[in-house]
Amino acid sequence: MRLMAIRAGASALALLAVPAQADDLRDAVAADMPGLIALYEDLHANPELSFQEVETARKLAARVRALGFAVTEGVGKTGVVAVLKNGEGPVVMLRADMDGLPVIEQTGLPYASKKRAIAQNGTETGVMHACGHDTHMTAWIGTAQQLVARKDQWSGTLVMILQPAEEIGEGAKAMLDDGLFTRFPKPDYVLAFHDAAQFPAGHIGYSKGFALANVDSVDIVVPGVGGHGAYPHTTKDPIVIAASIVTRLQTLVSRELNPTDAAVVTVGSFQAGAKHNIIPDEARLQLTVRSYEDKTRQHLLEGIARIARAEAMAAGMPEDKLPKVTVQDPYTPATYNTPEFTEQVMAGLRTRFEGRVFETPAVMGGEDFSRYYRADRDKVESLIFWVGGVPQDQWEKAQKGELQLPSLHSPFWAPDAPVVIATATEALTAATLDLMKKR
Ligand SMILES: [Zn+2]
Ligand SMILES: [Zn+2]
Repeated sequence: MRLMAIRAGASALALLAVPAQADDLRDAVAADMPGLIALYEDLHANPELSFQEVETARKLAARVRALGFAVTEGVGKTGVVAVLKNGEGPVVMLRADMDGLPVIEQTGLPYASKKRAIAQNGTETGVMHACGHDTHMTAWIGTAQQLVARKDQWSGTLVMILQPAEEIGEGAKAMLDDGLFTRFPKPDYVLAFHDAAQFPAGHIGYSKGFALANVDSVDIVVPGVGGHGAYPHTTKDPIVIAASIVTRLQTLVSRELNPTDAAVVTVGSFQAGAKHNIIPDEARLQLTVRSYEDKTRQHLLEGIARIARAEAMAAGMPEDKLPKVTVQDPYTPATYNTPEFTEQVMAGLRTRFEGRVFETPAVMGGEDFSRYYRADRDKVESLIFWVGGVPQDQWEKAQKGELQLPSLHSPFWAPDAPVVIATATEALTAATLDLMKKR
């Protein structure tokens, strides 16, 4: 499936000769790589959790300031906004996210993280860049360096942002709420990439339209009437009610939605009771709910509330003791790659990266990158693409079934960072130069 997608993506354009400028940019990125890899290893060894990216932000802000950007720190708690005005033209925003994850690294790399920190739930944990945001930040610096060196080739305003707290889905909102689009030039185009654990290193994948899903976390508290396990007739068993809710929830996707409309309702946690012979007085469910379209999301959330209420009523629970359904706010909205803009950028990249650019289906993961487009859908064109990170030898072993590849967020995720960083730097620079080309 993946290989087919890659082959299908190698268009006729890829057969055209690579323009001279391509080699010039590729060589310039290659020359920057030793410095970028030193930065990468430093970032990798020193990850920080969501909204704790203080040292990361400080280090990178100093670098872009030295490159001549006007830099504002502390936007949306730990976010950074770097602006470079270079004449008339469009406003292009490039985003990298900064946070690591509460994961104890097990890659065995010489620059593996040994950091510890206090997670959101108050417990001490290891910290790791298990989602590869360190590759994003390094390519972000690489791109800034290339665009500054090529100021004579473009015209417009470059806005480069470092976003905190992507992993908890709050960073983009925090930056927007803190005036990202009012205190700073509002972008016509926003671009980003994410490293990918399901593609070989250096391949570029993209989806047109929806790329990532709406992500909702839902809690359901199901009251019952507790009592002795041997006298069920004197109780209302919340475990049976909650079990009925879990089963009935499966019909939301399978029976209520149009089969072509993708969605997920997963009950990831079901907690109730403490002992064999006690019927508890409460059960608790935790759900993740995924969709693309807003109306699908609405249908699922309303359906969950309806089913929870109806199952409790079916068990004879009174009006004042029906389940309490809480939808976490804010949620992560679906990421939408505006189709024409996506095609425009990818046409350029297909020529440059011959045979390495392919279209890939949308996934049910989430990204708060979505919020920049949703903040002004009439003005902002938006694209996030994947840059494959699986080392070539591991990819080949996995194709033969000899190796199970780690996913993003795995303590074993070790992308081929030099290839990811070089590819992403070249791709982001080339796309930006194309958008801001002197006319
Ligand atoms: Zn992640
Ligand atoms: Zn990520």
